[in-house]
Parts: sequence; structure tokens; C-alpha cells
Amino acid sequence: MSDRHGGTEVVEGGGENHDECFVPLSPVLLDASGVPALECRNTGTEGVEVGKNLNQQQVPVKGTGKVVGGRWEENGNYSRGIHAPEDGGTLGKKRRPVTVDTSKAKTSLEGLKISIRQLKWREIPTGRRAPCDIYWHGVSFHDNENITSGQVNKFPGMLEMSRKINLSRAVRIMQELFPVEYDFYPRSWILPDEYQQFATQIRTVKESDETLDPTFIVKPDGGSQGEGIYLIRDPAELRAAGAQARQAVVQEYIRKPLLVDKLKFDIRLYVLLKSLEPLEIYIAKEGLTRFCTEPYQEPSQKNLGHVFMHLTNYSLNVHSGNFVHSESQSTGSKRTLSSVLRRLAAKGVDVKRLWSDIIALVIKTVVAVAPQLKVYYQADIPPGKPGPSCFQILGFDILLMKNLKPVLLEVNSNPSMRIEHEQEVAPRVFECVPSPVDEEVKVGVIRDTLRLVDPGLKKASSNCKLSSSNFTMASVDILYIDIVRRWSGALPDSREAGMGLQAFVEAFFYLAARRFKSQTPREQAASLLDLCEAQLESQTPGPEERRSSSCSRAASRGATGAPKHQAHARQPGPPSPAGAPLPRRASSQDCRRAKPRSREAHAEN
Ligand code: ADP
Repeated sequence: MSDRHGGTEVVEGGGENHDECFVPLSPVLLDASGVPALECRNTGTEGVEVGKNLNQQQVPVKGTGKVVGGRWEENGNYSRGIHAPEDGGTLGKKRRPVTVDTSKAKTSLEGLKISIRQLKWREIPTGRRAPCDIYWHGVSFHDNENITSGQVNKFPGMLEMSRKINLSRAVRIMQELFPVEYDFYPRSWILPDEYQQFATQIRTVKESDETLDPTFIVKPDGGSQGEGIYLIRDPAELRAAGAQARQAVVQEYIRKPLLVDKLKFDIRLYVLLKSLEPLEIYIAKEGLTRFCTEPYQEPSQKNLGHVFMHLTNYSLNVHSGNFVHSESQSTGSKRTLSSVLRRLAAKGVDVKRLWSDIIALVIKTVVAVAPQLKVYYQADIPPGKPGPSCFQILGFDILLMKNLKPVLLEVNSNPSMRIEHEQEVAPRVFECVPSPVDEEVKVGVIRDTLRLVDPGLKKASSNCKLSSSNFTMASVDILYIDIVRRWSGALPDSREAGMGLQAFVEAFFYLAARRFKSQTPREQAASLLDLCEAQLESQTPGPEERRSSSCSRAASRGATGAPKHQAHARQPGPPSPAGAPLPRRASSQDCRRAKPRSREAHAEN
């Protein structure tokens, strides 16, 4: 396959099966079938494990997990809340449900509640004294203080790093080092520091070619939802307004975006940063696209102020008379990413290549901010200090140029997870009404994030021992989630979480086929059985060890590093109902209110 990642050879990876919603990806496991859910409706997540150097032929992922008291640690800290399944993976016994503190979840709450219900986990709505497994924060790592265990859904410092100036600085450093690799970010200047530089460079460019008439977009630092954003054509306009002295990023305006239905749109992609050390990134296969509400024209002096033409923010366009709230996922002013990609594919666009470019953009952006994030992380959770581990869902805003090149606009540390929208039912009376598109995409993202950070599924090593060496644990995570979800509808009365027999059989044959490609299905299954038996024998303790381990079975199972999905595969019982149809949400009356529309700190766009 073609070289898509700066010299990284792209080799065959998991996910050949087009029925799957999850397709594992990494710089070395980039599979051509890794295109967003074109064939399936559910949101999935693509695992990307990243080594130190994008140019490496092989990008090894070294788990830093170590055993503390028989429990796997991700960040090297002592963490009481993270544990192996309570039964240690023994047959038949039920796991204690995972507890999620939702007291600080803010606008994610509704989607989070649905996800917790689907997973049959336990919501702790008001916080509690005893430690929880997962703390879901609405804004930052510090929403709850003094957490010493479990997992928090925010990294320290992410809020800061996603501010426009900080993100710009981080990406620009990489642009200086790797100009070709990082050409997905528009040329930017930081105000007020670089105003002079900006003015001089633009003057020089215009003097060298008088036909050039660039446009720039000015974005206040810390702004969101298009607030305070405007277009200019000359640096002098900044000085005239006194804006050159305010903290902002001024950026080259992309004049020729890709249009659908003559409208400019951008992509909201959900990315799970599961771990910083090692760097583990999952990309949701389903995302949103937000459409402008006025047909696009290239910027001119006349139309510079037309926000409904130039800015794709939902929060702005929703006030346009042309905004269409649609029940359908493929029409209206907010659509699913997969529906737009289907449209593009039908027009002959190479969406596989496009998706691969988008993934590269995501990986490189995370690589750009990771060093600074590690500094923040160590400041808050120094090695040796009790602390939680972290994960975070990020919202990447991406614009497609007419030539299909993806451009990074920004990274949101608090992407809106709201699954309803407000409608003005009478003057200044707003009512929350369900938004099917938001619900479909966002509940999937939250639920799959929870599955991926399930403390009962701690990672033993980055490569799956039962499969070939290039089948990473990220691929196994995804395989597990995908198969469990697919079988979860089979027995709706199921009370058990985990993997049912049918799902286990499917997973077994899938692994067998991957591991022993050249054999017949029967031989594949027999060979995998042999391999499992050999593994078990090598792990079976001698009589002496057996005596000493008899009262610490759960702990030592974790310590031996048995692949996490083995433990689940051994659980009999019906499959989890996790992928069951979404329960109906609270009626719109529940959040009826009569006050002017206020802007959420982390509302959509
Ligand atoms: P905010 O955080 O306020 O939403 P963004 O950086 O996402 O700020 O910009 C708001 C909108 O402006 C984007 O959704 C996009 O439509 C448009 N936009 C931003 N940067 C550019 C750019 N460089 N070229 C063209 N359009 C842009």
C-alpha cells in the first residue's frame, strides 16, 4: 500500500471484515478498510497506538504498565481504584459494577447516563466518599480535587493546551521542524507578540505579487463557538481597531473549502486520548459535520461580514432562518460524518485516502501537544504520588479544502456532548428537544470510551499474545468491543456484562484466522487451541507456587499479565446488552425553561 505517513510503511491490519464497526488502526496497522462507518450505523472507535517516531518503520508500543500489589498501573502510580475484575476472571462470578462519579459531568450528563445504563455500570450522581472507578468531569481535571485513584476523564493541562495560542505555538514548533509533515495547519501569527512580523510578511508578499489578495481570520484566544471571530484583508485593519494588542491568533483564511450543497462545512471528529505514556489514541469512526446556512462565495470586501457563509459554528448558524434541524442524518445543517463521506464516495472521492490523511493529522497534532501535556501531568501527579490515571475525549475541528486536503482548525478539550438542542417555542422561551444526530454519534462515543477504559480490562501488554505480532492490544480492545456489541442484542434479557458464548466463539475464530492465515478453518481453530493450552501450561505454577498463591488468585492473575480479553472470554453467560437500542430520553418538558439562550462554556461549536 502507499506510503501515507511520512515514510511509514502501511501494512495490513485488522478490520478486514466490513461488518465491523471497529477497525484497528495505527501508523503501522493502517488498513485500507479503515474508513468511517460507511457500512454500519453505530459509532465505533479506531485505535491508534503511536510510538516515538512517526517515521519509524515499526512503531513499537511499549506498555509502561507495572505490577503493584498484583494490579496493573498505567501511569506508574499507586492507584487503589484500578483493579482487575473482582473475580479475577474466574468462571461465572459477576464483577462488581464499575462506578462512575457523574456529579461534575455538566452537559455530558444525559449521554453519560444512557451509556452507564447500557453498560449496566453504576452511576454515583452526587459523588461519594468511597473512591469511584471513573470520575467524569465537565470541564477540567480539577473539577473534583484530591482524587487519588481511579480514572479521570480529563488530563491536567489539556484545557490550557487547547487554547488557540497554545495550540498554535505547539503546532508551529513542529512546523518549523517538519514543515511538510505539519502543513495541515494554516499559517498563523500570535497577537500581540507577532503583529509586526505579520504586517511585514504580508506587505512583502503583496509587493512581490500584486494579484495576491489574501484573507485572514482573527480568533480571540480562549474564545469558542465563533465568538469574537472576524475576517480581515489587511493587517492595518487590526491596528485601526486596536485589535493588534489583544491576545488572539490571526490565521490565513482557507479560501477554497470543499462544498456540499454549495455550503461550507467542517468536521467534528471525536478522538480519545486514552493514555499519554504510552501514547494511545482512538479515533471515533463516526463524527459530525456542521454546515453553514448561506451559500459559500470566496471572500470579498462585500461578504467578509457574512458569518453564515464563512463560519460553520452551530452556535452561530442556529440563529439563521435557513438552519435546518433534521431528523435525518444525511440532510440538514448538522449531519453525520459517514453520511457526508458516503456522498463524497458516490462522487468518486477517494475517501479511504481522505480518512487516512485525517488520521495522520490527528496523530501529528497529538504528538505536537504531548510533551507539554506530560509536563502538566507530572506537575499534578508526580511519579510516586497517589493519583488517578487520565483519559480524555477531544473534539477535533477539521476543514476540508477543495482539493480534499484536511486542515486543522482547532482542538476542543471539552467538546459538547449534549444530545438535545434548544428550540425557541415562543419569544424568549426555549425548550430542549432531542437531536437524533447528536444522540447517535455522542452516546456511541461516550459508551465506547467507557468500554475502552473499563478498569476490569487492564492491559497486559501491547501485543496480543494469541495472535500475530502486529495485532496490537488496541486491535484486541476494538475486536472485543465490536463483537460484544454485535452479540449484545441477541439476548435482550441478559443481566450479565461481558462476553457471551456466541461472541466468544466468534472472537476465537477471528483470532484463529488472523494467527494461522494459511490454514483451513478447522486447522486454525485446532492450532489456536494448542497455542492457548501451551500458554496456560507455561503459566501453571508448580506445587510450591500453587500453595502460596492460593489466597491471592485474583491479584496474581493480574500480575501474570494474562491478556485481558482471555479473562472475559472465559466468562460464560449471556452477552452484555450494551448495544441494545437506546432507551428514550427524558421528555423535552424536563428541561423547558424561560430565559435567554446562554452559551455553554463547552457548547458544540
Ligand atoms: P471557535 O473555537 O470559536 O469555534 P474556530 O477556530 O473553530 O473557533 O473557528 C470558527 C469557524 O471559523 C470554524 O468552524 C470555521 O468554519 C471557520 N474557520 C476557522 N479558521 C479558518 C480558516 N483558517 N480558514 C477558513 N475558515 C476558518
